[in-house]
Order: sequence, then C-alpha cells, then structure tokens
Amino acid sequence: MKLTVLPSEFQEALPILSKIKAAGFEAYFVGGSVRDAILGRSIHDVDIATSSYPQETKTIFPRTIDVGIEHGTVLVLEGGREYEITTFRTEDVYVDFRRPSQVAFVRSLEEDLRRRDFTVNAFALDEEARIVDLFDGLTDLENRTLRAVGVPSERFNEDALRIMRGFRFAASLDFTIEPETFQAMVETAPLLEKISVERIFIEFDKLLTTKHWRKGLRAMIDSKAYNFLPDLAGKGEQLASMLTSLGENFRFSSSEQAWAMLFVCLGIDNIKSFLKKWKTSNDFQRTVVKLVDIYHHRQTGPITKQICFQYGKDLLYLVEELRQAQGLATDFEQIDRIDQALTIHDKHEIVVNGGHIMKEFALKPGPVLGSLLKQVEYQIVEGHLANESEAILTFVKGKLENE
Ligand code: ATP
Ligand code: MG
Repeated sequence: MKLTVLPSEFQEALPILSKIKAAGFEAYFVGGSVRDAILGRSIHDVDIATSSYPQETKTIFPRTIDVGIEHGTVLVLEGGREYEITTFRTEDVYVDFRRPSQVAFVRSLEEDLRRRDFTVNAFALDEEARIVDLFDGLTDLENRTLRAVGVPSERFNEDALRIMRGFRFAASLDFTIEPETFQAMVETAPLLEKISVERIFIEFDKLLTTKHWRKGLRAMIDSKAYNFLPDLAGKGEQLASMLTSLGENFRFSSSEQAWAMLFVCLGIDNIKSFLKKWKTSNDFQRTVVKLVDIYHHRQTGPITKQICFQYGKDLLYLVEELRQAQGLATDFEQIDRIDQALTIHDKHEIVVNGGHIMKEFALKPGPVLGSLLKQVEYQIVEGHLANESEAILTFVKGKLENE
C-alpha cells in the first residue's frame, strides 16, 4: 500500500533518506509517525531507521550529535530540524526484563521491525510513500486492534514495559487489545515489578491524559496488572471507581489533575509517600497534594478568599472541573469573582516583610514573628487590612500591645 499524501513532516525529511541512500544504505521512516500518518493523525517526531552503522551515518551528515550511540541512535541536524537516525537492530538477550544486555546492529529492515512491540508500531515507510507492512499491521489498524508482533508472551517476557505500553496505546489509539496479546499481558504482568518505575510512570501518565483513558485503564484493571505496580496492589475496585465516578466524556486537562483524581478514588492519604515510590518530581508531588487538599476543602465548604489566595485560581479550576465531571455543585464564577477581588495573589506582594517588623519592634525571628506575619496576611486577604506600610505597622503594634 502507498500513502496517498506524504505528510509535510516526512516531505521535509526526504533529503535525509536520499543522502543515506546515495551513500549506499537503506533508510526508512519508522515507528509511531508512520502509524499516525496512516491513521490521518497529526505527527510528532519523525524517526528514521537505516542499515548504516552509527559511525557510517556520522560520515554522511556534517552535523550530528551522539545521543544514544550504544543503541545505534545518532541525532542529525539538517534544515533547522533534528532527526533521530537509528541503525537497524535486534535486541536479543534480556538480562533484567527491561534493557537488552546486548544490542546487535543488523543490515536488515525485517529484523528491525520484528523487534518492535505492536504490529501497528512496526511499519516502515520509504521515500516513495510505500508502506512496508510485514506483520499485517494495516489489517489491525483497520480493525482498531492492538496486537503484539510475533508470539505475544515472548515479547512481554523480553520487555515487560510493553505491557504498560499496550494499555497506553489502547487508550491513545482507542484500540482493543487482541485476546492472545491481552492474555500474555495478564500472564507476564508480574514482571512489571522488575521494570523501572520512572518508565512505568511515563506510560501510565500518558494513558491517563489521553482522550480514551477509560479504555486503557479498563484493560489495566481487567488484566490485574496493577497488582504489580507500587502501592496499587489490591486496589482494583478503587481504580474501577475512577471509571464510574466521572462523566462519560470527561478528559483530564492535566497530568496532575488525573493523578489527584486517582488519589481521591484510591482514598490514599499519604500521597507524597506514594509518589515518592513512583519517583515523580517534587513539583509534581506538591501540585497533586494541593489539588487533593482543595478537593477535600470543597467537599466541606465553599471557595473562600483564603483558599483562593493559598492555592491560586488555576488549581481551583482544575478541582472544579473534577467536581463538574462528578456531577457535584460547581461555581467557576465565584472563583473568578474572588480572584479578581483579591488585593494580593502572593505573600511577597505584602509591602511589609518580616525584616521590617523585626526592625520596627525590636523582635527576633521566632514563633511570635511568624504568627504576626500570618495574621497580617490573613487580614489583607480578607480585605480587612490595607496593604500599606502604615496600616500594617499599626495593626502589628496593636497585636503586640494586646499580648
Ligand atoms: P508516540 O506517538 O506516543 O511517540 P510511538 O509509537 O512513537 O508513540 P515511542 O515510544 O516513541 O512510541 O517509540 C517509537 C517506536 O519504537 C515504537 O513505535 C515502536 O516501534 C518502537 N518501540 C519503542 N519502545 C519499544 C519497546 N519497549 N519494545 C519494542 N518496541 C518499542
Ligand atoms: Mg514516538
């Protein structure tokens, strides 16, 4: 089969293929971009596979960067763009169920495509827009089926991350996992314990933020693979409540929002400890914790000036969206009103700081000062105190005199 139109991203990269071919090697577009082009979806990062070895690739192009040369990947800078060019390879011996202990470079496209995870990810596209489809991926695309290349259980045994990738692609493509492939995912799921949690997080996170996240999550729940993920063992019912508690067409608008909802459904209090095990960034942890805090505030009461000041409008909106999707009462306008009326949005905007107060009242750092600053902030946010030096100092003086 031929692509009727070669998307512009590939057109622009055609000179790369031509140069590699002129040097006597084979070169193809491969991976997700070919799949997405056939599906008529937008394309990101065009990957190229070639029979030239990395050292040979480097002699073809004047500007290259060694990004992963041990895996055969050279980054080529051409026409103001970057292209990852990877030598055809097989991955044969897996020591830890994740990383091939040995990457063998080969000269055959077929061997390279054979080591890819799913049939719909195993296409190659040549410069004439001809699709190389060795594993009947086109039929699977047609039927919206996700099927492992070759013998499924062998493929997941080689690299258990593919199990998570499978749930992720079921979600991002809105495909159904083919029964034998799914059965192999169920059987090999215990191997997920050997996979680096950072990589699992990336896949799970991508899954949750796609439009059809329900499809991927449903497959993950049905497979019971969650039993082999950090702190998720035995949490099938709680995970399933995520599917039932949110309106049908709801899509998460950020990764933090998705994870916050996950924690609400899991009923987990110690979110930091959970996310530490998942090795997420501190920033991510802080935001998710805030979202869950807001969520709990909202279960017991309305949005207040203090909450709006403490967490900021954007996070309140994210929680309100979750409430909306759950059919709970929402008040987006109230957030806007309060936010607009706030005289400060950050404590650094207060014109008098701890230093000023210490100097003015001969105070030392400590709990008294801390409490004064908190009270000043509280009163300004409530609109009871003007954010002006004289007013604040008078307020502090009054407080100190009453102590
Ligand atoms: P996306 O559109 O999300 O980038 P993708 O299909 O491009 O999806 P990548 O993770 O970018 O996925 O990988 C590029 C290609 O490399 C895949 O299409 C697949 O052919 C191959 N691949 C990546 N990871 C694996 C793996 N763990 N096992 C086998 N093949 C893999
Ligand atoms: Mg990709």
